[in-house]
Amino acid sequence: MPPPLADTFGRLHDNLRISVTDRCNIRCFYCMPESGVTFMDRREILSFEEIERFVRVAVGLGITKLRVTGGEPLVRRDLPRLIEKLHNIQGVQDLALTTNAVLLEGLAEPLYRAGLRRVNIHLDTLDRDRFKQITRRDDLHLVLRGIDRCLELGYRPVKLNAVAVHGLSEPDIVPLARFGRERGIEVRYIEFMPLDAQQLWDRSRVLTMEQILATLSHEIAPLEPVPDPDPRAPATEFRFRDGLGGVGFIPSVTKPFCLNCNRIRLTADGKLRYCLFALDEYDVKHLLRGGASDESIADLIRGTVRAKWLGHEINSVRFVPPPRPMYAIGG
Ligand code: SAM
Ligand code: SF4
Repeated sequence: MPPPLADTFGRLHDNLRISVTDRCNIRCFYCMPESGVTFMDRREILSFEEIERFVRVAVGLGITKLRVTGGEPLVRRDLPRLIEKLHNIQGVQDLALTTNAVLLEGLAEPLYRAGLRRVNIHLDTLDRDRFKQITRRDDLHLVLRGIDRCLELGYRPVKLNAVAVHGLSEPDIVPLARFGRERGIEVRYIEFMPLDAQQLWDRSRVLTMEQILATLSHEIAPLEPVPDPDPRAPATEFRFRDGLGGVGFIPSVTKPFCLNCNRIRLTADGKLRYCLFALDEYDVKHLLRGGASDESIADLIRGTVRAKWLGHEINSVRFVPPPRPMYAIGG
């Protein structure tokens, strides 16, 4: 057995998020500007073969969980081919995808055939006008069809990610939870984080876990914490006391899960990061394209984990936003 991928605080790392592109087919206002985005040069983007090689080395060091993300991963041509490669790597126990689902109706089946079983679908509202306002696209119907297709094909679990912004998302909180309860889908509310390209974030725009919990308990049914939660899962989970489903939260601002963080992230242009908010990153592409040995890649992974800080400092005056926006890191 290889030595565990532990950082200097004793946290074990078994989870790798892989961004396959920084491009996207919609423009969520808290992530991307409406126009004028400069995307990575395609030659800078890792090939599927380069990603596969990196993942094999990482799995050899103890990574067992993979999540493919972006930008919007489904705009990357031939994504099922990468999914198949990752699914076939011995030692990968969990493979998931985070997507806005605009292209999912047609891709759900090839992805399922390639070995994917878990999807997190980003959906902030069931209201067509607000969807347009948030994403600057009129694609809600496509997202809903993508969700239905995944349920039909047997993807489990299907989860929804909803970014909650104070002063905007309040009317969506209850309809989304009801939608999830009716379909056996867990909705996870994500506190708005300072990762937007235009620096629109302000603490007063965070709709907090506590506020959402109060609304749901009042409007639907009382909620209680799920007993014996997995301490390494980023979501804080609750179930409705009436027995019908539950909701989760990613309270990155009011209750960061840094102390249990088990993740590293590979950007589409081949940089390894120990945190979404990290200011430093480590150049994997240079090794992959420069004829480096697997051992050198393994050293870089170990070094990245060893360099990891205790946690981000969103709640401190010392906080400095990362040099890349969310879509260029891989959310
Ligand atoms: N395009 C895919 C999607 O939207 O799910 C994958 C990439 S996206 C960057 C990953 C997740 O980041 C999304 O599910 C969205 O909920 C979240 N996100 C983006 N910007 C955010 C922000 N400023 N604060 C909190 N979450 C954000
Ligand atoms: Fe695209 Fe996802 Fe960013 Fe929205 S959050 S703009 S879907 S990358």
